[in-house]
This record gives sequence, C-alpha cells and structure tokens, in this order.
Amino acid sequence: MNVIYEPKGRALEYSELACNLYRGCTHSCRYCYAPAAMRTTGEKWHGNAEPRKDILRLIEKDAQKLEGDPRSILFCFLCDPYQPIERDERLTQQSLGIMAKYHLNNQLLTKGCADLILEDLELMKKAKTQLGITLCFTDDNLRQQWEPQASTVSDRFNILKTAHEAGIFTWVSLEPVIDPDQALSVIKKAYKYVDFWKVGKLNHMKEYEGRVDWKKFLFDAKSLLNKLEARYYIKKDLLAFHENSKAANRN
Ligand code: SF4
Repeated sequence: MNVIYEPKGRALEYSELACNLYRGCTHSCRYCYAPAAMRTTGEKWHGNAEPRKDILRLIEKDAQKLEGDPRSILFCFLCDPYQPIERDERLTQQSLGIMAKYHLNNQLLTKGCADLILEDLELMKKAKTQLGITLCFTDDNLRQQWEPQASTVSDRFNILKTAHEAGIFTWVSLEPVIDPDQALSVIKKAYKYVDFWKVGKLNHMKEYEGRVDWKKFLFDAKSLLNKLEARYYIKKDLLAFHENSKAANRN
C-alpha cells in the first residue's frame, strides 16, 4: 500500500490501519509525539502543515486494494484531520468520501476546528465513521496550556453531543491523562454522549508522569466507567498498574 499503513507499538492499540493526510500539525500540543516519530523538531512540525503529496490519489489507490477488508482506517496519528488547513484543502472531507465509496471502516481522531467537524457529520454518517475526540480536560485554562491551538473543551463536548444525537458512533481518546481529577471529570460530564472510551497515561514527560499515582487513577477510572456501564479500553502501559491486568477491559 502507499499511504494507508499498519501502525506499530502503542498506535496499534488504537487502530489496525491508519493514514496521515497532512505533513505537520499546527495544534502544537506540548505532549506531541509526532516530531520525535518523524525525526524532526517541534518547531518545524508545529510551525506549518501542508497536504502530503498526491495524497488523495494514493488513498483511492489503496482503498481499491482494501475493498472488503474489515480493518478500520484511522485518520490521523501524526496530524489532526481538522486542523485549520483543512478549511482550505478539505482532504479529510474528500477522504471520507473515498471511505464511503469503497465501504471501508474508518475512524477519525481529532481535537480540531468544531465548525469543520460539524459540517462533515452527514458525510460521516454516510461513511459510517466512528468519530473520536481527544479530551483530557474540563478546565479550558489547562487545555490552553497543553493544547494551545486546538479547539476549546466546550467545543469538544458540544461536538460529542451533537454527533451522538445525529446517530454517529462517538469515542473519546482520554489520553494522555495529565491531571487525574480532570480526566475523571471528563468522563462524568460526557459519558451520556460517548459510545467508547480509550484511556492512556502520559508518557515521555517524566516530570509530570511522576506526579500522578497511576495505580489510584486506574482504580478510580475503572470504578467510574464500570459504574456508568461504559465500554472502554485501557491502554497497556496504564493497565500495567493493575494487579490483575487481564480482567481490566470492558469492550
Ligand atoms: S493534534 Fe496530535 S499531531 Fe497535532 S500537535 Fe496535537 S498531539 Fe501532535
């Protein structure tokens, strides 16, 4: 395949196939792993985003080959599919059209521009897209510190509610958890509109990771999700804090 690929490592826990539409991501999240994965600097990766060369033609080529494959394709791991450049390029919108045309399972992962996401809801329904929103805070001041150019928390709650009410499968990437109380309050606030939760810890930021009692957070998060009868997946590096890790997920 050309641009649809099989992720490795932690990313594989999210999706069996993925595709990155843009090179670069202007959301500038402090915890972003993309510059390291792409062997570049945060300054370069977050300073500018551009469409990957010939991306739509290559997606269509891959989609033809994948027709009938049940694996879900995730847009995107190394950039946000609804960052501001999408307003001009509409690569995400056109990619969803290709997913619908070839009947391929697909999912989005975004913390991007609310107006663009809401505009595409009808297309998501047609393409049977599972809409994933990254959401780790209820306090927008904290969100601003960690995800300075991404959408506000209120926009993200609103997207989840609107999409859920429109009949779209919604999921939340509760990752990276930075402040356990904030993460738990996200679950309490959004659970009615969320069909599935994926929960993961902060990594590669030792200073902040060390401040969290991960065992306690895991216990609290699982207790709350179980009480709410929510469906969820705990990522392996957080699950490692569980005494009987095999019994921890509820799919
Ligand atoms: S949205 Fe994702 S890819 Fe973009 S800066 Fe944030 S973490 Fe990095």
